[in-house]
Amino acid sequence: MPYLLEYEAKQIFRKEGLPIPEGEVAETSEQAKNIAERIGKPVVVKIQIPTGRRGRAGGVKLANNAEEAEKIAKELLGKEFLGHKVNKVLVEEKLNIKREFYIGVVNDRAAKSPAILMSSEGGMEIEEITQKFPEKLAKINVNIFKGLQVFQVRNAAKKVGIPLELINNVSNMLYNLYWKIYRKYDATFTEINPLCLTNDGKLIAADARLSIDDDAMFRHKEITPEAEKHLNEREKHAKEKGYVYVELDPNGEIACISNGAGLGMSVMDYVNEAGGKLACFMDVGGRFYELAGDALKTVLTLPNLKAVLFHVYAGLTRANIIAKGVCEAIKEVKPKVPIFIQVSGTGEKGAIEIMKKESEEFRKMGLIVEWCSHTVTGKESPLAHKGGVDTIEIPVKRVLEWCGIKYKRNPPEWLPEHPEWEKITREIMRKTLPLRPEPEYNELAKYE
Ligand code: GDP
Ligand code: MN
Repeated sequence: MPYLLEYEAKQIFRKEGLPIPEGEVAETSEQAKNIAERIGKPVVVKIQIPTGRRGRAGGVKLANNAEEAEKIAKELLGKEFLGHKVNKVLVEEKLNIKREFYIGVVNDRAAKSPAILMSSEGGMEIEEITQKFPEKLAKINVNIFKGLQVFQVRNAAKKVGIPLELINNVSNMLYNLYWKIYRKYDATFTEINPLCLTNDGKLIAADARLSIDDDAMFRHKEITPEAEKHLNEREKHAKEKGYVYVELDPNGEIACISNGAGLGMSVMDYVNEAGGKLACFMDVGGRFYELAGDALKTVLTLPNLKAVLFHVYAGLTRANIIAKGVCEAIKEVKPKVPIFIQVSGTGEKGAIEIMKKESEEFRKMGLIVEWCSHTVTGKESPLAHKGGVDTIEIPVKRVLEWCGIKYKRNPPEWLPEHPEWEKITREIMRKTLPLRPEPEYNELAKYE
């Protein structure tokens, strides 16, 4: 979810006619000084990092003149705040604030609709407003087909006690934030906090936050968020292909590829706990079959890689189809590092057949590929278990061995089976399988 930095969000606000303070972004203290000089008034110097709460962390500072702005910028640039290094500061005219309000639009997942938010108490984080002043916060869900209506914003303004003479102005601001920003830019979240009433009676967005839906970025080619300008080749590639790739340590030794973030996290916890050096995490999710080869090629470019761990627990995806995809990929890529493949869940029987057959091939090709499933551990692996096995620990143990680490924890003797869960999943598969257009699915349906 690309989260834009404040200055990036404000560039969009400016383009769309939402009022923002005069200012510019700087990468050096000299630039900061020049900007402040040009503004010719007291300024605020604000760190540009992808998170809120900068004010409280000491990342928003007032400067009376250009020299002060330069000094402050020098202090802030390069320093770390809230876990982020500061590469840029925004230098803006200082507003003389009379009152602060809050306005925002969010995706309300529970209600399956957008929600507008308004509060007469701006400045603090929305979570805090919710707790301290629930009566001064309005949340109104918007029917996506009808869109936000003027009366809804006005009702919100009345409810939270926006002063009468400001109701029009504040309502308009939120109305525009919804249509010109949230809708037009396919945002998942946007917020002006604080929306400031200045001493001379103007309403100005002192802060701006904007997150755009990842899946809508193709509609906004003109926007390249700062966060995406610094991706390495692997990260760029994964982004193009549309799977999740998180590079934890470019010098790491173990690449973890799984279907689903939850499973991936659990596997990584085990590896971490034992002292394994994780390089990356990949979530190839529902399109595992098509993406397995590509994912494998991508992680193999990691310079210190010692092992790859595929971890698949098929629910609505099918382990046999994944096994087929991964095996094809391995034959094509012929990786020099050992690979462990864990294939369990729906289609497991078929997956085991495929793995047994392909293991033969791999051996002939001189590749080290081991595997296990929920019910069977490949004979090729010295870790043969009878019956139910812990399908996280076995692969992790083996992969750690390949990296020269002894895994200490004793795996449980067995894990409980879940016959109900399997029954339900198989039922769904039987119903949905014939609906799939891919011939692969029909061919492999026989395993169910
Ligand atoms: P955040 O803490 O990351 O949300 O950063 P903000 O941009 O909201 O800044 C934090 C606080 O600094 C705001 O709530 C304001 O009270 C204050 N602030 C920001 N800009 C100005 C300004 O131009 N003038 C004054 N007086 N205060 C400002
Ligand atoms: Mn803020």
